[in-house]
Amino acid sequence: MEHNSSNFIKTIIKEDLESGKRDQVITRFPPEPNGYLHIGHAKSIVINFGLADEFNGKTNLRFDDTNPLKEDEEFVASIKEDVKWLGYEWENLRFASDYFEEMYDRAVQLIKKGKAYVDDLTGEQIREYRGTLTEPGKESPFRSRSVEENLDLFQRMRNGEFADGEKVLRAKIDMASPNINLRDPVLYRISHTTHHNTGDKWCIYPMYAFAHPLEDAIEGVTHSLCTTEFEDQRPLYNWVVEECEMEHQPQQIEFGRLNITNTVMSKRKLKQLVDEGFVDGWDDPRLPTISGLRRKGYTPSAIREFVKETGVSKSSGVVDEAMLEHFVREDLKLTSPRTMGILKPLKVVITNYPEGQVEWLDAEINPENPDMGTRKIPFSREIYVEQEDFMENPPKKYFRLFPGNEVRLKHAYFIKCEEVIKDEHGEVIELRCTYDPETKSGTGFTGRKVKGTIHWVEASHAVPAEFRLYEPLIKQEETDGNAEELDEADEKTFIDYVNKNSLEVLQGFIEPNMEDVQPYDKFQFFRHGYFNVDPKHSTEEKPVFNRIVSLKSSFKLPK
Ligand code: ATP
Ligand code: MG
Repeated sequence: MEHNSSNFIKTIIKEDLESGKRDQVITRFPPEPNGYLHIGHAKSIVINFGLADEFNGKTNLRFDDTNPLKEDEEFVASIKEDVKWLGYEWENLRFASDYFEEMYDRAVQLIKKGKAYVDDLTGEQIREYRGTLTEPGKESPFRSRSVEENLDLFQRMRNGEFADGEKVLRAKIDMASPNINLRDPVLYRISHTTHHNTGDKWCIYPMYAFAHPLEDAIEGVTHSLCTTEFEDQRPLYNWVVEECEMEHQPQQIEFGRLNITNTVMSKRKLKQLVDEGFVDGWDDPRLPTISGLRRKGYTPSAIREFVKETGVSKSSGVVDEAMLEHFVREDLKLTSPRTMGILKPLKVVITNYPEGQVEWLDAEINPENPDMGTRKIPFSREIYVEQEDFMENPPKKYFRLFPGNEVRLKHAYFIKCEEVIKDEHGEVIELRCTYDPETKSGTGFTGRKVKGTIHWVEASHAVPAEFRLYEPLIKQEETDGNAEELDEADEKTFIDYVNKNSLEVLQGFIEPNMEDVQPYDKFQFFRHGYFNVDPKHSTEEKPVFNRIVSLKSSFKLPK
C-alpha cells in the first residue's frame, strides 16, 4: 500500500514475521461468483493484495464456488477483469471446486474419527433443533449412527442415491455450545445441480463454513482476512482446520465492512436491481459495482486511494459518497482536458458579427497543467448557450444573460442580450445579441468588467452529443438510516426508496475538436463537471457522456 499508515492487521503480520510464526505472507481474495464485484469488494482486494505486497507476499484469487445454483461463468469473467483493472495481479487463480475431491476425503476422515454424521432431519427440523441464543439445541436422533453406517450413507449421497434435502452431513461438535455455529453445523448438502466448473460430477456440495478453511489451509494462506460477520464462525474455522488435521494452519482475522451512503451494496440487492430492470445492467453507472464505477468514469487509482483513506478497523461504518467523489476529482483534475459542452441548448445570433465569417480561437486545454497545450475553437455569428444561462426576468444577483445585460463568453468576446425570440407558445427559442470586438479574450482588454462568464459552442461546427446526469439511486436523506439495513421486516424495503429521477438524459453539443472521442476518454466540461465517454451507448455519430461528478463539493477530507 502506498499509505504506510499502520493498522491492526499489519501489526499482527509484523509480529508473526518477527516471531517466526510465519516466514511469509500469503493472502487470498475469495469472491463467490454470484454477482459482480462492488466497491466493498475493492476494500477487501486492496487489503488482501496490498498487505501481501507490502510484505513481499503473495495473493491468490480464489472463487468460492460451492453453491452451483447461484454461480455463473459471466461472474467469474467479470471478477477477473475487475481485479486486474484495479491494478492487482494474483499469484494463483483457484476455484474451491478444484478441491472438491480433497474436501470429500477430509469429510470421510471426520466420519472415521466420529466427528461427523449423516442426518435425515429436514432443513426445518435442523433449524428447530438448533435452539436459540438463550436455549441449548437438541441432538438429532441420527447423531448416534455408527461410523460404518455414516460412511455408507455419505458414499451413497455422493453416488446420487438421495434427493435434494433428503440427507446432510453434519459435524458432531456440541449441541449445547453457546456459539450456535458449533451446534453440529451442516458440512455437506445434496444438490442435483450442474456446476459451472465440475459439471455433473458432483451432486453433493460442501458448505462454505467447511470449504473455506480447507481452501485456505490447502493453499498455505497465512492470514485469512474476512469481514466481521464471520467473527462468530472463527471457532468453527479453527475446528475444521484442526479436526481435518491440516498441515498448514491459517489464521482468520476480521475487519469491518465498507458501506457508503446513497446506495445499497450487497450483491443480492444489486442483483435484484439488475434483474427487475431498475438499472441498465450490472455496469450501470449508478451502481457501486466496480464495472459501474468504471463505466461512470472512475479510475482505478481514485478507487484505491478512497479505499485506503477509509482505513482498516474492526468497525464497519457508513462512508459518505462525497469522499469517493473527492478522490476521483483529485485524480482527474490535472489529467483531463477542459472543454465546453452545451447540455440544454439555446441558440444565440450575434447580429453585428459578419455573416459567413468563422474565426478560430485559442483556448488552454488545462490551465492547471499548461503542458497539455491549447486547442482551437471556432466562433461565428451563431452559437449555442445553456438555456439556464438566460432569464427573461432575473432575480437580483443573476449575472448571466437577460435583456440588456452583458456577459463574457469564455475564451471569446463580451456579448449583450438585445432581443428575445419566442415561439407561438411563448417559449424562448433564440436570443439576439451584439458583441464588442474590443473585448476579445487574451487581448488584455480592461475597458470595463462584466460579472458573468458563460460557456458556449459555435453552432455550425457543433457536434451533437448525449449527456447523462446521475443522481443517487437511493437518497440517503430519504431512507431511515442506511438503505442497506432495511429488510423484509421493515415497512418499506430498499426497492421502495429507488430514486425514479436518478438518470437524466440530455441532447446537446460539444466542441468540434472532440469529434473523435473514444470510450473512457474523460473531460472536464466547463462549469458542468467531469464526464466519461460511455462505452456502451456511444456511437460513431454521437458520443454519450456520463457525468462522473460535478465540480464543486463541500466535502473536506477528515484530518
Ligand atoms: P455481499 O454480501 O455483497 O454479497 P459477500 O461477502 O457475500 O458480499 P463475497 O463474494 O463472499 O461477497 O466476498 C468476497 C470477499 O469480499 C469476502 O472476503 C468479503 O468479506 C469481502 N467483502 C464483501 N463485501 C465487503 C464490504 N462491503 N466491505 C469489505 N469487504 C467486503
Ligand atoms: Mg456471499
